[in-house]
Amino acid sequence: MGDETPALDEHEDPCDWTSEEQKAFRRAFNEQRRRQRRVGQVFTGVLLALVSLGVLLRVSPSWWVPAVGLVAAAGLVFRLTSWKCPACGEGLPTRGAGRACAGCGLALESEND
Ligand SMILES: [Zn+2]
Repeated sequence: MGDETPALDEHEDPCDWTSEEQKAFRRAFNEQRRRQRRVGQVFTGVLLALVSLGVLLRVSPSWWVPAVGLVAAAGLVFRLTSWKCPACGEGLPTRGAGRACAGCGLALESEND
């Protein structure tokens, strides 16, 4: 309680971020987005495989539909939990996340860097 951590506070103020730091965070953000996309593709692939296997093997939909739902839910959970601001850890909106973090104001736009 009595402990105070003075030094870091100033530095975490987004207004004080140097362009170097911004750049580093943006790079981390881009990396994260790329990973997210790849995982999304994997999940989509698994979903398609499940559906086509279910259909091709004539498995009763009561078996593979819940499995598909489970994988889709897992993908969604992953998306929501991993989609965070690299700077402050605030959750980011899944759509139009290119602007800025709502938590710390870090500019996330980075079409071409
Ligand atoms: Zn942030």
